[in-house]
Amino acid sequence: FLPQVVKSARVMKKAVAHLEPFIMGEGGDNETNGTVVLATAKGDVHDIGKNIVGVVLACNNYEVVDLGVMVPAADILAAAKEHNADIIGVSGLITPSLDEMVHVATEMRRDGFTVPLLIGGATTSEVHTAVKIEPEYSHGAIHVPDASRAVGVVSRLLGDGAADYKAEISERYAKVREARANNTTSPVKPFADAQANRAPIDWQSFTPVEPTFTGTRLIDDIKLEDLVDYIDWTPFFRSWDLAGAYPRILNDEIVGETAQSLFADGQAMLATIIEEQWLTSRAVVGFWPANTNGDDITLYTDDARGAELATLHTLRQQVTHSDDRPNFALADFIAPADSGKADYIGAFTVTTGDQVAARCAAFEAEHDDYSSIMLKALADRLAEATAEYMHERVRVDLWGYQTEEFSNEDLIRERYQGIRPAPGYPACPDHTEKATIFELLDTPNVLGVHLTESFAMDPAASVSGLYFAHPESRYFGVRKVGADQLADYAARKEITFDEAARWLAPVLAP
Ligand code: SAH
Repeated sequence: FLPQVVKSARVMKKAVAHLEPFIMGEGGDNETNGTVVLATAKGDVHDIGKNIVGVVLACNNYEVVDLGVMVPAADILAAAKEHNADIIGVSGLITPSLDEMVHVATEMRRDGFTVPLLIGGATTSEVHTAVKIEPEYSHGAIHVPDASRAVGVVSRLLGDGAADYKAEISERYAKVREARANNTTSPVKPFADAQANRAPIDWQSFTPVEPTFTGTRLIDDIKLEDLVDYIDWTPFFRSWDLAGAYPRILNDEIVGETAQSLFADGQAMLATIIEEQWLTSRAVVGFWPANTNGDDITLYTDDARGAELATLHTLRQQVTHSDDRPNFALADFIAPADSGKADYIGAFTVTTGDQVAARCAAFEAEHDDYSSIMLKALADRLAEATAEYMHERVRVDLWGYQTEEFSNEDLIRERYQGIRPAPGYPACPDHTEKATIFELLDTPNVLGVHLTESFAMDPAASVSGLYFAHPESRYFGVRKVGADQLADYAARKEITFDEAARWLAPVLAP
């Protein structure tokens, strides 16, 4: 199945004339196998996976109505009615989209829909679909883990054995729910105990390095060709649903050939992107005097540290360890206010996305979906490469705390001092903290990158996060958060308990 994804996409590129009637849903007397309405959930902008699904289905003679990104439930339902859809597919990448998909299912029930709902995208899972979505909608809510499965699932859902297939999935999901209900996960550690077990950093012997400037700076001298060495290619293949680490994947027994042809096409387009300046890479970075107060990081307007500029709120692990490992929070890596140490924190947003939408639209107008998807995948790679490249400039120059040099492999494995955690990732699962970072950096005005209502970055080829310099700073997963910490966190953020619970739903302890 895996190579089929890519093959279909290339067929689409090479056989546009043949496929056009199906793709456009006009002309020809060709019977389609059925109509599928696809959309990226409201508040989400990531659509590579969804677009690959669309291509594969179109190549298999399904009529695909692709509603694009950030699509409200009402629009999805209206389009499904208008086009007499046989199946609805909703996709999303960031965790707030999980809630939005539950909402779509609820609305489908309220509106009396009976067609199956497909769920796909990076943070979706069979467990979430079984536990949160299927109970809202009894006519089939099916998790599709990757594009290569889409045709199989859709053809079974629309084929003769559909009823049996749906019953089979329902049964499996019921078991998933049962297993979860019976799951005796160890309760989380009381928040006070977790706080008492913060990372034991010896602040007295630590001398923070002062960055070369405080406040923000736009970095717009980045050359695309300088980013090439910073590209991590493994996620490139993952974006095409090919699993395996680069470069080994090129010789993989099953997907090697597909990987090679994708890689060759990717390299060719990358060369054109650089030569013809299809994209630009820009960054805004900032440094501020900062100290930790409890689990919050206070940023000050200047080195007098009298006036507060902003507060970053961090979440603490509440796992019960069998040994004396700490319960980490990112706040642990900044000197506490009462340590007397003048510490600093940094933040960044980078983007390569400002020309992606226009270029992709041009490809799509020529029915070259393959190139459109390829450009998005490469823009994402260049955005991540920019984050890696800027992190090095920050360490070596702008903050200037690093003296060693590192090889490209060491860089990709992030074997250097300091971290750049990104909100939405395991150490800081709260996407709403991006709002503070964007305000500090004035990201929307400086870079033209905006946050959606779900705190996704638009355009998607953007990366944002914080810089920590301390040698003991490290990545970790917050994992499960208890109601005690949630109440404290909500109070610190000055939001209601319910609102905090909504944003942190994926990490709340049962
Ligand atoms: N080279 C990869 C980089 C992305 S994954 C690529 O090109 O796609 C690594 C990045 O994800 C880190 O630099 C950090 O920003 C983020 N990250 C990884 N693990 C994290 C964690 N546990 N908490 C917060 N951020 C994390």
